[in-house]
Amino acid sequence: MTSFDTVVIVDWSGGNDTGKSPRRDAIWACVARLGRAEAPQYLRNRSVAEDWLARLFEAEIAAGRRVLAGFDFPFGYPAGFATALTGQSDPLAVWHWLEDRIEDSPQANNRFDLAGEINRRFGGRGPFWFNGLKRDIDGLPRKKTGYENPFPDRRLAEEQAKGAFSCWQLGGTGAVGSQVMMGLPVLARLRRRFEAAVWPFEPLERQVAFVEIWPSLTLGAAPEDQIKDAWQVREVARTVSTLEPDTLAEMLAVDAPEEGWIFGLGHEDRLRQASAQPPRLTNDCFALPPGVHWTPVQEALALLQERLSPVTGVEHLPVAAATGRLLAEDVTAVRSNPPLPNTAVDGYGFSGGKAAGVHRMPLAEGRAAAGDRPGVVPSGTAVRILTGAVLPEGVDTVVLQEDVTVTDGHIAFHGPIKAGANTRRAGEDVAQGDTALMQGTRIGPAQAALLAAVGLAEVPVRKPLRVAVLSTGAELVEAGQTAAPGLIFDANRPMLLEMVRRFGHEPVDMGRVPDDRKALAERLQAASTTADLILTSGGASAGDEDHVSALLTDAGAMTLWRIAVKPGRPLALGMWAGVPVFGLPGNPVAAMTCALIFGRPAMARLAGGAWRAPQGFKVPAAFQKNKKHGRTEYLRARIREGRAEVFASEGSGRISGLSWAEGLVELPHGAAEIVPGTLVRYIPFASFGL
Ligand code: AMP
Ligand code: MG
Repeated sequence: MTSFDTVVIVDWSGGNDTGKSPRRDAIWACVARLGRAEAPQYLRNRSVAEDWLARLFEAEIAAGRRVLAGFDFPFGYPAGFATALTGQSDPLAVWHWLEDRIEDSPQANNRFDLAGEINRRFGGRGPFWFNGLKRDIDGLPRKKTGYENPFPDRRLAEEQAKGAFSCWQLGGTGAVGSQVMMGLPVLARLRRRFEAAVWPFEPLERQVAFVEIWPSLTLGAAPEDQIKDAWQVREVARTVSTLEPDTLAEMLAVDAPEEGWIFGLGHEDRLRQASAQPPRLTNDCFALPPGVHWTPVQEALALLQERLSPVTGVEHLPVAAATGRLLAEDVTAVRSNPPLPNTAVDGYGFSGGKAAGVHRMPLAEGRAAAGDRPGVVPSGTAVRILTGAVLPEGVDTVVLQEDVTVTDGHIAFHGPIKAGANTRRAGEDVAQGDTALMQGTRIGPAQAALLAAVGLAEVPVRKPLRVAVLSTGAELVEAGQTAAPGLIFDANRPMLLEMVRRFGHEPVDMGRVPDDRKALAERLQAASTTADLILTSGGASAGDEDHVSALLTDAGAMTLWRIAVKPGRPLALGMWAGVPVFGLPGNPVAAMTCALIFGRPAMARLAGGAWRAPQGFKVPAAFQKNKKHGRTEYLRARIREGRAEVFASEGSGRISGLSWAEGLVELPHGAAEIVPGTLVRYIPFASFGL
């Protein structure tokens, strides 16, 4: 059983209390679920940490959740030590041996004395070394001189994990030895109290399991503005909590009965990959508050925005290959634009502004053109300068060539002219270090230009959102096939596939399925392995043949969203094998409207894009309508002679009206009496990205 609901990662400390304010080298812990980490916890000493862990385990057990708890110190010593110390090769016997002898309080503990005592049993020159106290301890060397270790220096795991420290060293950099001595007694108590299983010594079929981790195995340097230990526990917790049960099972399948092992050792690449994975959505992400009947459109949109988060991975691409993609992070200018002050026009450059009246100045030798290295212009002289040229030293102002006469190696022009005229300041567009573009921005032609201008050759972008499109209904056949009486052509699929493409995502055609639960389940399963989101049309209500909603309800992960909108039927929002499913109404007009109003922003959010309402405009109506209170209505519309006309029939079976229209008129929730000339909100299809 390797599926855990909660991951907690702890960075241990062997030292004394670290004080009230958060600091490094204290104990830090962080909880994560499905790739979402909570804030790291600062635990000032081991007694605080033990209480905090106990409360966490109690709460998780009470909630029926399984917890994987990772600690950053060895659970076992090098081979032979357990038997030599306790008479048993069982590493857990060492846990109990230490638990019986370690005395610990926030101010002091007996770890150095106990290490000396152990050493004396083995001749008094090792295995432990580094006495951190002022007084000498019999048998515990201060330095490695005279040190002799009767046991291997490292475990097999440490031989393989480059840079890992030995568990015999009690102080200095990487004082892992102290962490083990002061950590195992705490874990021994927690293990007993919560019947926890210890990896890799015991089967993990318990509600709480302990694993040994080592953050440096896969993590690079922490960002400068963060406490390293806090950042590390958060990163590891987040990463481990995104692992699929199968992957986790593979990583946990190790054989190290005495020494223990470091979780993830040998799987570093997969861990690094997992750390780039976004959090997964939970099965209850579409649940609605109980008792809600008809949710207003704005509320439904706010819920979607809150519940959904990016599900696509991140990759780094050259700018030219990144167009059409969404930026995964804010990007910072590596160079200012312009990098140096330069001239905006062709003309003559000199120093300082000039008052009204005629000015005559000698012309310096040569000229300054775009691409030239900046030269020097003696004071009181002017230089010929061409658009884009960096201002030479001694030049801060440029006069337009059209305003100048040149004779006898002199220029003449009429003032006044302001200092700095016709020049561009360095960084006046974007300064080095400024955020050039924000996360979630789609990289179009303009953004590609900006990225290049500020020196960004490669950018972090989201992988494309793969959207599976599936039509359901026994009545559907493919256009081009012969349609028996009673059958109709599948109109939704070509429409939805193209909408997905125009929204900037990757459509995946999953074909059609009849109203058959088994076939539908198989197709959803197939879609869930190739797509990040499944769009179905048809069968989404609560009728006899509404199999999409029936299946998702059976899978225990669906909510029928009854949204106060016309055209529209309930939306079936659910999860299939961890992949969100948007069950759109079958009716093409309703399917398109729902895909525009709800599907488009939801897809943007899942893809890692910005959440943006489509830009609409108030225009006078060319129609008349009495609208009732209680739902938002979308009318197929277009602008003619500055006024919004609407399609003659509101009938939702009228597919021709969709192509007649060039946009939608949105009539808000309340009642309205619309007559020709009343201002209404018109949203062109282009505003939706169509
Ligand atoms: P349903 O939501 O399955 O009850 O379907 C509502 C209406 O939409 C019915 O008249 C269906 O025949 C029609 N419909 C469902 N799917 C499609 C489709 N892919 N293309 C055209 N019409 C459809
Ligand atoms: Mg149907």
